[in-house]
Amino acid sequence: MTFHIITIFPKIFDSYFNESILKRARTNKLIDIKIHNLRDWTTDRHKTVDDTPFGGGAGMVMKIEPLYKALQSIPLFNKGGKGNLKTKTILLSAKGKTWNQKLAKSHSKLNDIILICGRYEGVDERITKFIDEEISIGDYVLTGGEIGAMAIIDSITRLLPGALGNADSAKNESHSVPGVLEHPQYTRPEIFTASGKSYRVPKVLISGNHKKIADWRAKKSKHIRPSSSRA
Ligand code: SAM
Repeated sequence: MTFHIITIFPKIFDSYFNESILKRARTNKLIDIKIHNLRDWTTDRHKTVDDTPFGGGAGMVMKIEPLYKALQSIPLFNKGGKGNLKTKTILLSAKGKTWNQKLAKSHSKLNDIILICGRYEGVDERITKFIDEEISIGDYVLTGGEIGAMAIIDSITRLLPGALGNADSAKNESHSVPGVLEHPQYTRPEIFTASGKSYRVPKVLISGNHKKIADWRAKKSKHIRPSSSRA
């Protein structure tokens, strides 16, 4: 699966994609991440990607032309990217549909995802003519779409066969069944002491009785109302 990221801050991704599961997934060619510097698609000497908003108001707005050119430079982006069932073009946006595990699962079936990271006050609205969807990673405002792009890529990659050391990890995780949260986890030491107080691991987990452990875990898994994704 290939992820394309359009951003004005390409270096933001250097560290995160070069560690742990994402690094291994890249090395093993499960995923490829291509980063496109939006400033490469500007025409002026200052590499301008923003301008003042029509109608006035605070801040700057990302211009449509460099974004459109950047999209066009990606070979799979064809006729606005729409209509290709194996590809999605996503704008990260606080106004978008809220990302969740269900969306991570459905998007993990795609071949390619293009992620556009906004900055400033956002992106010229005409971008919506060339994308498939706007995605938010939560009801708060971030400075840019880069953290959202990382969250989307990370949550999808975990679901790709072979990405995790143990394939069962993804099956039993929180939200793999909508609304079900994983049971509590413990590791050594059995007794942890701090400020004179002891904190013990639940006895059942060291009983060796697999049936009882499974029952305890099922009981301790929380059931919540799954967060719905704003359309
Ligand atoms: N003025 C915009 C608004 O009120 O919706 C916020 C712009 S924000 C400062 C700049 C960029 O950060 C956005 O264009 C978007 O790409 C990204 N961003 C901000 N919050 C986000 C969120 N919750 N989820 C995904 N991307 C977000």
